Amino acid sequence: MSQGHLPVAGRADVRRALLDLVRADGRAFGVVLALNALAALVGLAGPWLLGRMIDDVRAGRGVAAVDRLALLLLLCALAQVLLARWARYLGHRFGERTLARVRERFVDRALALPASSVERVGTGDLTARGTADVTTVGNTLRDAGPVLLVNLVQALFLVAAVFLTDPLLGALTVLGTTPIWVVLHWYLNRAREGYLAEGAATSDVAEIVTSTAAGARTVEAFRLREQRTAASRDALETSRRTRFHTLFLRTVFFPVVETSYVLPVAGALVIGGALYSSGSMSLGAVVAAALYLQQLSAPLDEVLVRIEQLQSSGASFARVEGLARAPRAVGEGDGPDPDGDRIDVTGVRYAYEGGVEVLRGVDLTVRPGERLAVVGPSGAGKTTLSRLMAGIDAPTSGSVTVGGVPVVGLGPERLRRQVVLVTQEHHVFLGSVRDNLRIAEPSAEDEELWQALAVVGADAWVRELPQGLDTTLGQGGCRTDGSQAQQLALARVVLADPHTLILDEATALLDPTTARHTERTLAAVLEGRTVIAVAHRLHTAHDADRVAVMQDGRLTELGTHDESVAAGGAYAALWHSWHGELPGNGKASV
Ligand code: ADP
Repeated sequence: MSQGHLPVAGRADVRRALLDLVRADGRAFGVVLALNALAALVGLAGPWLLGRMIDDVRAGRGVAAVDRLALLLLLCALAQVLLARWARYLGHRFGERTLARVRERFVDRALALPASSVERVGTGDLTARGTADVTTVGNTLRDAGPVLLVNLVQALFLVAAVFLTDPLLGALTVLGTTPIWVVLHWYLNRAREGYLAEGAATSDVAEIVTSTAAGARTVEAFRLREQRTAASRDALETSRRTRFHTLFLRTVFFPVVETSYVLPVAGALVIGGALYSSGSMSLGAVVAAALYLQQLSAPLDEVLVRIEQLQSSGASFARVEGLARAPRAVGEGDGPDPDGDRIDVTGVRYAYEGGVEVLRGVDLTVRPGERLAVVGPSGAGKTTLSRLMAGIDAPTSGSVTVGGVPVVGLGPERLRRQVVLVTQEHHVFLGSVRDNLRIAEPSAEDEELWQALAVVGADAWVRELPQGLDTTLGQGGCRTDGSQAQQLALARVVLADPHTLILDEATALLDPTTARHTERTLAAVLEGRTVIAVAHRLHTAHDADRVAVMQDGRLTELGTHDESVAAGGAYAALWHSWHGELPGNGKASV
């Protein structure tokens, strides 16, 4: 279940990220800008030529002069269309390249997120950012960005042209557009928050719907349907409210803007008419100015619509960029290398976010090469301790080190050479067998892959696959059964070649035949490594070199099986009850 959201980037960060994106493809951006300016410049010739035509006709010049001007007008219009088309084409290409960059960076950052943060916020937020938000940003980069650029340049040139035609009319134009800037200011002050709230609400809906769908069986089993429906309804209601708020902002913004377009044109006609009557302005100039101002509404409209779009996509971009602010998978591999294979847990305390302490001062040294079983009642903190030792989470206080270096400070590359956590989740990724194995060791040659497959006893079935290592596995590809998926997972462990393995319920949820099969495989993988096993079956503990008993967040007993039984403590009690209750049965849950 989600607790909070991933961070959102601040305005300054978004601006910086945007500038970086432009800079990354600076030349293309410059060319697009120049082409747009050229197209806008050529576009200005139209009204000016029309004004000239009117003045020429009034001055009684011949048809030939007007024809010449008309031909020029046609050529200018053609040139503008071609230049604008070219500019737009290059603009879209620029947008696509930039979008690809945004996507790649998003994927990199999503992969660098610590598993614990993803677990905490739920996958809904991440999914919403990776889909809806990236798409919004993409649309903006592809369409809104280039269009905004074209129209902004055009609007500026039009205003400049009115100024050149007549400074008084120019000043009037600027004055006439004042309401637009006032309402724009009002709108921008509210829009970012509004759209951020809308985005967060969308994430919540996604989170609730995906988690309900993922946990459908649990929902049915515990009859949680009404509860989940109510939660969904609440999330949808919040989403509706936030959407209504942004809709309200738009319904104020656009009508004011639409009305404001008429003002400058009306002003130009009234004042231009007066100037013409008094003889201080030619009719051609009045017509040209009025046409410029009338033309202004189209690019200005486009600019404002796009600014509105920029607000919502700015919020989306802030959410996409926000990933950069999430805590990285701790340690980027720049600390010292571990000296030796010993794992030391010293004074470790740990509380899940917003929860009570579940580890309350644990000290433990795992000797290289030993088999350590961790036993204890459910909820004692065994899994939590194994997560800390595997470097998935950092302790709230105290330290977990391997070879004297904190495990959470090792980057993923170095960590997997040291400690690997093996759980019962065996995921087969969509991709070839080779891709699936190389996750653990990207530079592994085929020969090493086959060796690893042989260790886990999977070489035979992989050889029988239609394309061997190149066979696509996962959805839509070749199906793998539970034990094959497990073998692949273990082959990855062999490839990563860590000196220490932490087994958390590694075989606990498998059916007995698979478990027996896996145990043989596991034995081969464990060979020569330090093994820390969260033991749910006491015979695993019996075979271990030492047994650690956890109770209520503390390590209460530590010793060999025989010592611990002789000590007559909690472990002895468990052992006796297990033996008493289940004679001859190799299984008991601790
Ligand atoms: P064990 O493996 O011994 O059963 P765990 O380490 O799983 O124990 O759990 C220890 C305590 O931490 C339990 O009280 C459990 O409810 C709590 N806990 C486990 N995982 C989480 C989590 N993700 N968020 C909050 N509390 C958790």
